[in-house]
Order: sequence, then C-alpha cells, then structure tokens
Amino acid sequence: MSTTIICNGTAILPDRLLPDAAVVCRGGKIVTVGPARKVRAPRDAEKIDARGGYISPGFVEMHVHGGDGADFMDGTTDAVRTAIRAHTRHGTTSIFPTTTTGSPAQIDAMLKACAAVQHEWQSTDGARLMGVHFYGPYFAEDKLGAHAAAGRRDPVVAEYREYFSRGIIKIATCAAELPGAADYYRAAKRSGCLVTCGHSNSSWIEMERAFRAGMRHVDHFWCAMSSVPSLIARLGTPMQASMAEFVLAQPEMSTEVIADGHHLSPELLRYALAIKGPKRLCLVTDANRALDMPPGDYRIGPQKDGSLFHSDGLVGRMPNSTALASSIVGMDHMVRTMARATKAPLPDVFRIATLTPAERVGVARKVGSLEKGKCADVLVLNKALAVQRVFIGGTEFRRSP
Ligand SMILES: [Zn+2]
Ligand SMILES: [Zn+2]
Repeated sequence: MSTTIICNGTAILPDRLLPDAAVVCRGGKIVTVGPARKVRAPRDAEKIDARGGYISPGFVEMHVHGGDGADFMDGTTDAVRTAIRAHTRHGTTSIFPTTTTGSPAQIDAMLKACAAVQHEWQSTDGARLMGVHFYGPYFAEDKLGAHAAAGRRDPVVAEYREYFSRGIIKIATCAAELPGAADYYRAAKRSGCLVTCGHSNSSWIEMERAFRAGMRHVDHFWCAMSSVPSLIARLGTPMQASMAEFVLAQPEMSTEVIADGHHLSPELLRYALAIKGPKRLCLVTDANRALDMPPGDYRIGPQKDGSLFHSDGLVGRMPNSTALASSIVGMDHMVRTMARATKAPLPDVFRIATLTPAERVGVARKVGSLEKGKCADVLVLNKALAVQRVFIGGTEFRRSP
C-alpha cells in the first residue's frame, strides 16, 4: 500500500495551527498528523512539498447548485460530474448537491443522477457526493428569491416520503410557515437529515414550533428569510420577532453565510461569526452554474425552465433588479473573504468550511478535519490561501481539465 507524506507546511487543525507539520496518508486514510520532526514514514513514501504554505482538510460544501455551466437540477450524471469537478478545483472534497424548485420529474431525475454518481464514484471524479440537500421546492411564496415560482409547492407527504426513502437525502429544507411543515420536519429527522428552514417568512412562534419538530439550521442567513419588517406585511402589528432573532438567540441553531463579498458586507460576516461562533456557523458557496463561466445570462435550476439571471462575473443578479441570484465563486474564495473580513484565527475560518458543516450533517467521523482515521481529503494552499493541490482519499485530483 503506497504512503504519501505531505510536509513543509503549517497544518490547520480545528483548534490550532501546527507549524512544520507532516500529514501521512495510506490506503485513502490519514494515518498520522504531527510535527515533521516526530513523524516516521516509510522510505519509499511519496513526498508532497507544501512549500511553506498551509495543509488543510478539504472543504465540506452543504449548499451548492452547480458550476462550470452545469446545474445539479439538469438531472444528468454528466451535469452532476461537471459541477462537482468544478468545485473540487476550488478545494471542495465533500459535496451535497442541492435541489431548487422544480417538478417532481425534475427532482426525481436529479436524485437519480446523484445516486448514480455516488454509486460509481472514484477519487478521480473529484469531491465525494456525501448526500443530497433537498432544498426546493417547499419554499414560501413571498420568499422565493431567485427560484422559479412554477416549481414551488407546499409539502406533499407522499412526494417527500418517497424521496426520503431513497436514503440519499442528508439535508432537508422547508419553510416553517407552510401547511404540513412540522410533519415534514419530523419525517426528515426520522430519516437522519439535518433539518433546515429556508426561503421562509416565518415568525419566532413558527420557528419555535419548527424547533420542537427537529429543525436546527437556517439556510443562507439574511438572504430570503424573514426579518421584523418583512413580517409586518404578512402578520401585521404588533411587530414580531423573526427567523433572525430566533437563530441568534437559540444556541442550538446553526446557520450559514455566503461569504462571496457581494451578498453580505464584512461587518455582517464578522457579526455572524461573533454571535453564532465557529461551531454553529457554516460557509456555503450557494454557487450556481455560472461558476468558472464567462459573464452572461444563465438559469438557476433546470436548464429547461429554471429562472433566468445575469452573471456579471462577480455575482448572479436577477434581471432588471437589485436582487442577487446566488454566488458564482468557489469555497476557496469564501474562505479568503471570511478571513479578511473577520480577522478571525485561521483554525476558526477553516472550521466553518470543514468540520462544522461535517458535524451538522453528521459526517464528521469520516471527513472535516486532519485527524487520524479520517478520509485523506487534504488541501495544500499557499500563504495567500490559494488552493495549490487537492488530494481526495490520498490521491491527487488533476485540477486542469
Ligand atoms: Zn436560496
Ligand atoms: Zn441556494
């Protein structure tokens, strides 16, 4: 069995930096992490030189729609593989492809394509498809954001039960105020999902009810969610506390931020990390098919009838409006933006892109940190945090197509 030793770099561990570290990988797993002077490796081990940069765990992405021209909702194995490879080039090594609004046939095709790719997966395909984030179609009508209204609906028991029975869904979203939301949350929890509320205009009281049914996470904080002012239009006065207050006040609740520099300002990123802490905040790209594509018009969701948006090369924008239509950059970019905005210690900045999402979704025994026994999913980054090399199960991923 061949051994790889990654050295001459600072390892980013969940709780500290380890300078001049060595990470030894064998049989697809991490076997040792420690100071280079103490680590023993066989003579014939392949040596990977991190050139004085950083050695980190691969990123764990829990909310992502596509990349390199493909959206997971295109529903083909080609689209799934293309989008996954694109994100792998940006350092993602575990990924949860995410549904949008769409017809039952479109969601069925997406789930089937993801199951096929997961079944046939080998490390040369790129990031591990750890499961699906069943995100659309159970969104609130008044919080659809960029998603097409035609594919939205209230929870349909027979539909979601059948999807959950396939075993591939690991994250499940629904807007808390929809009829049947509590039953949906209970079913999602029973099938082992991280249960989340998103694209919702729900009140504190509705969030409390959802929490009792197992909801523990809110999608892209401050985006397509309720606020005190947004609830006036729905529930009148007196003004009511919203999803934002509930998430900030309830220590068990986690959430995620899109740190592309265009969705949220630096002080909002700082605030989210300060209030929720690195164990309850996750970085997500929420990236769409325009990632690594030239500026132009694209569709979010299915190529056939997803909603049109414009990529200006920085972010997705809805036509003729100031509204954003999700991000077009990878997790490496999010990590750099977060590091710059928060000035937080690097172990915290990396934790929210690796171990915290892995813990929240329940895959932290396998991935999410540089620890003995976990999958050898390892990144080599330079001092400016640009991804130089990506290893999946100890095998280097060829980043140039
Ligand atoms: Zn969204
Ligand atoms: Zn999204």
